[in-house]
Amino acid sequence: MWKKRDFELQRELMVKTQIIARGIKDPLVIQAMKRVPRHMFVDESLIYEAYGDYPLPIGENQTISQPFMVASMTEQLELTGGEKVLEIGTGSGYQTAVLAEIVREVYTVERIESLAKRAKETLDRLGYKNVHIFSGDGTLGLLEYSPYDAIIVTAASPDVPPPLFEQLKDGGRMVIPISDYFGQTLVRVRKKKRREIRERLYGCVFVPLVGEYGYR
Ligand code: SAM
Repeated sequence: MWKKRDFELQRELMVKTQIIARGIKDPLVIQAMKRVPRHMFVDESLIYEAYGDYPLPIGENQTISQPFMVASMTEQLELTGGEKVLEIGTGSGYQTAVLAEIVREVYTVERIESLAKRAKETLDRLGYKNVHIFSGDGTLGLLEYSPYDAIIVTAASPDVPPPLFEQLKDGGRMVIPISDYFGQTLVRVRKKKRREIRERLYGCVFVPLVGEYGYR
């Protein structure tokens, strides 16, 4: 049976070979990836695979994203530390924890109640005090705590849900996988004077965003 130190060594190796070696440079992101114990976010039967270079099942037909994807999406948000971030698609809560290591407050919404509950238990056990978890349709955003400096969507959508763009601060960034006929592309949206500037980043594979402004 592995001890805490064995998991730490696996994590260090993951950061070196999957994160830094593939070009992630932001020291805040690297530090967060080194700190968050990914094995605590997966089922007991998968803990020895938690630092592998792939997504893993978390139940309810959903997945915890590949470590590189978590690091890369976080880096694309251009965080500096004082932000209020909205995450749509809490899943296991792993990406939430990575964000919580970096920013001031994280608001996160998960459609599937059982996943939201489990993520909350994990994040509470790890002592994150700056995370606020909600269960519901994240395509509507969370108006009461808006506007947000950054928004991250971790499920693929046919387009940018209008409420999310509305709830982004001027100068804010949103990272979202967008699907079309040819596949999915990770897109960064910047809000400048209420206008939208889109950058296509790279191809990706995510579960669908299901909701009023996602897939029905
Ligand atoms: N980032 C997560 C992690 O680290 O474990 C993985 C997220 S998983 C790829 C995508 C999640 O989005 C799933 O848990 C799914 O239930 C959720 N989801 C899909 N549609 C949603 C919606 N409209 N609102 C909130 N969550 C949604």
